[in-house]
Amino acid sequence: MENEESQGASRSEELCRRALNRTPGGVHSNVRLAGSREFIRSARGAWLYSVDGRDYVDYLLGQGPNFLGHAPGQVVEAVSDACRNGVIFGGQHELEVRAAELVCEAVGWADMIRFSMTGTEAVQAAFRLARAATGRTKVIRFEGHYHGWLDNVLLANRDGRWGPASNGQLAAHLDDFVLLPWNDLDEVAAALARDGEEIAAVVMEPIMINAGVIEPKPGFLQGVRRLCDDYGIVLIFDEVISGFRLGLDGAAGRYGVTPDLATYGKAIAGGFPVAALVGGEELMDLFGTGEVNHSGTFNSSVMATAAVVASVSSLIDDPPYERVAQHGKELMNGLQDIGAGYGLPLRVVGLPQAFHVSFGDAEVTDYRTLQQLDLARYEDLAGTLIDHGLWVAGRGVWYVSAAHGQKELDAALTRFDKALASWT
Ligand code: PLP
Repeated sequence: MENEESQGASRSEELCRRALNRTPGGVHSNVRLAGSREFIRSARGAWLYSVDGRDYVDYLLGQGPNFLGHAPGQVVEAVSDACRNGVIFGGQHELEVRAAELVCEAVGWADMIRFSMTGTEAVQAAFRLARAATGRTKVIRFEGHYHGWLDNVLLANRDGRWGPASNGQLAAHLDDFVLLPWNDLDEVAAALARDGEEIAAVVMEPIMINAGVIEPKPGFLQGVRRLCDDYGIVLIFDEVISGFRLGLDGAAGRYGVTPDLATYGKAIAGGFPVAALVGGEELMDLFGTGEVNHSGTFNSSVMATAAVVASVSSLIDDPPYERVAQHGKELMNGLQDIGAGYGLPLRVVGLPQAFHVSFGDAEVTDYRTLQQLDLARYEDLAGTLIDHGLWVAGRGVWYVSAAHGQKELDAALTRFDKALASWT
């Protein structure tokens, strides 16, 4: 029933008001606290449609998972067909075998896989495995890399100091992590010279997409790989964003460096909630012997594995990588040119599949140099871009999907131009 307050309010405003009554902050993930409060009615391909009749060209892709576009027919059908015969069994089923085979074959170097629901869980499973295998506890990680929201990985930089990002987070859970600047091999070598015998794992996004879409310097990944071998350390690539987006073999394939373990999520399952940990048999089978525990009621559900089989099959049978890259390149160039037309120091860098938009001209190789850009100015622009029909994140990362084509490119550039005209 409408009440007095809601009269004249848009449908989104009304839903937002109701959401705020029952849901803290009106959202179910704190990442969305800073996002748009326009409610989405439906999504198809590269477009989102709001309950108030607005449409958006989507370059956020649900924070990455919709690499095949929204509601990809073959995935949605495969999931709904499979789920008619049951959703979760507390036992094994054929689809999970097929999903495991497909992912390991697509990745190329991995022997075995365990599915989970979220990237956060897959990363935790990797830490546990590395610690069990090495008998050591410490893990090297890098500034600006995101590995989930749990106490031992969530970090924020406040006034130049890294620490817990949330009230209630147990700061002591961060004690076993050695935090280093990324892309600096000397720093890694020095840390290992000091503490090498105590380090169980080195974990990183092999391309730092979460903060700035920064590529590894030539030789950095190879150097870390060598150091890990020298010290008997497990190298973990967190490919939750890069996996299946950069190619079937992800960043490991792109840069020619094979980790010991890798985590996947997002683009692996056409928008459905699935993540995975993959690795060589020797490490992964520690789960199989029961020496190391990895559990989860919903792991490898029918929904999850049907989504993985359909998505990965589609990526293998009809690889979208070239057209995604083409769209991304044209979009990056177009945004850059439009920015220049307004005399703005717009900076558009990264890969065409995932790139970063900001203001400034610093040479960025890590989190510290990223701070030399005017990130706040872009965040302000992002609000205007959303108002003009571009669904983008305030932190400047744009994702391109297999569903983005010429129509979306034209619409995106026209909308970007209009947004800049109103913003400058
Ligand atoms: N690792 C990386 C690199 C991520 O980008 C994310 C999420 O964005 C995660 C881990 C956590 O994944 P999830 O949000 O599925 O828990």
